[in-house]
Amino acid sequence: MSIPHVYLKCDLCEEEWSQGALVGRCSYELPDGRLADLDRMLSWCNSCQTYVPVEKFQTREKLDRKLASALKNFKEAQIPVESRILGLFKTMKNPDPDRLKYSQRNFEEAQATRDWIDLRKSPPRCLCCGSQDISPKSAFKSPEYHHNCGGMVTSRENENLRIAYVLQHKIYDTEGNFLRIEKKDS
Ligand SMILES: [Zn+2]
Ligand SMILES: [Zn+2]
Repeated sequence: MSIPHVYLKCDLCEEEWSQGALVGRCSYELPDGRLADLDRMLSWCNSCQTYVPVEKFQTREKLDRKLASALKNFKEAQIPVESRILGLFKTMKNPDPDRLKYSQRNFEEAQATRDWIDLRKSPPRCLCCGSQDISPKSAFKSPEYHHNCGGMVTSRENENLRIAYVLQHKIYDTEGNFLRIEKKDS
């Protein structure tokens, strides 16, 4: 997979940080083994002394809305599709199996994510070192100042440079502690 090179740059010391760390998939593993969505953003970690992916919490209300819409899609995907053969005969076709599978997975993940927020006890943490001494805002939201030199940090994009990434699926426990990298993406 290759994506345009988007990065942060400090206008004073000219240090640069790539958003590449955000590429890939991260999940929480619930005690019953279900996987929930792990949302993240690039923020400053005082312990790592750099910009790293940190957990981004959604509100319960937002997760409720996501769950309701995922359930609606899943129900709709179960309805047989009416189709016509040569414009003459009306037949009922079985639901599209791909759409059904995809919407079911989406619904199950939305349900697991809604359950995760009720289990979660500690505040957001750095996904690299586990520290909770992190900036509460995304570094891409201006104004952002480089903690080491005070310079203004802004987002840039290099249209000509595309970077290839290896997609990984990282698994964390419900408190945001790293567990493992999943071998095969399911
Ligand atoms: Zn700087
Ligand atoms: Zn850190």
